[in-house]
Amino acid sequence: MKAASISGRMGISREKIFSWIIMRQQTDRRLYPLFRMVSSISGRFINWEETIPMFSRVEFEINSECNRKCGYCPNSTHERKHKGLMDMKLFRKCIDEMSRIKYRGMISYHFYGEPLLDPRLGEFVEYASGKCPGSRSFIFTNGDFLDVKKFRDLASRGVSHFIVTQHDGALNGVMKKTMSALKADERKMIEIKYLRDDCLINRGGSVASVKNNADNADSSKTPCMLPCINMIITVNGNVLPCCNDFFEKQSMGNVSEKGIIEIWNSDKFRRFRSDLRAGKRSEYSPCSECDYNGYTFQQLPENLKRERTRKVA
Ligand code: SF4
Ligand code: SF4
Repeated sequence: MKAASISGRMGISREKIFSWIIMRQQTDRRLYPLFRMVSSISGRFINWEETIPMFSRVEFEINSECNRKCGYCPNSTHERKHKGLMDMKLFRKCIDEMSRIKYRGMISYHFYGEPLLDPRLGEFVEYASGKCPGSRSFIFTNGDFLDVKKFRDLASRGVSHFIVTQHDGALNGVMKKTMSALKADERKMIEIKYLRDDCLINRGGSVASVKNNADNADSSKTPCMLPCINMIITVNGNVLPCCNDFFEKQSMGNVSEKGIIEIWNSDKFRRFRSDLRAGKRSEYSPCSECDYNGYTFQQLPENLKRERTRKVA
């Protein structure tokens, strides 16, 4: 039985239902057990994978540069296709549209750039938080510039989580000072990650020296659900389905020409999602090279739960 026919009979659009479910899954931890149970029972007679939920993670590449060149990152060996800073007007256009659908998912500001190198970061966060009050702004950073002043400024403008990866395997000098100066409730907003905790993947084949270190199983035909929740807007407005598309091979459109929702719902994006859900990686680059294991819709709540409950430093 198709989910669409059930929701149709109830007079509710399936997009609305799944958008609501995805948002609730990510915003209310108390509901995880309920959603897991519903997902498990309903998955026996409804093919959830035929549905297209609204995106729940949008990553804006506000700045294409990073101050580091980590060996497991394509930044170490390749140049970004389009470089520079994102036009604030382009960002606002996307956020305004997300505001109209009352977007409640995650917003982040990096792709392969270090967001704290962009002095406008606070402005971006403030605009997004003001227009999409139900969303959550995450800063993914290497922590090289996250001093106490910067932390408090960004937190006051609406950042809810700071994910700080320490690429040297220990807290750097700046982060040591920041963590010791912050109050306990402020420290809870920071999650420190070390390389050893992270799952390294080959970034769509762009980092030849890296292999998926979490699971060596062959992932060449594994369904991938990332494009069902994720959307990257590059510095020049290209919409990518996944953060592993460093070379922008699967641009779904450009937000300077079309709306973000129109691109999400386009035939091209739908076909790509559908093929990836079916494990047809070989038909697309960089998917044919990618060793990310993906996950199925049924597993999504567990993945999100893990992501949201990792140990806070
Ligand atoms: S800090 Fe992050 S974005 Fe920069 S080179 Fe290292 S892994 Fe890549
Ligand atoms: S298979 Fe890899 S490159 Fe393709 S969408 Fe999934 S994670 Fe991205």
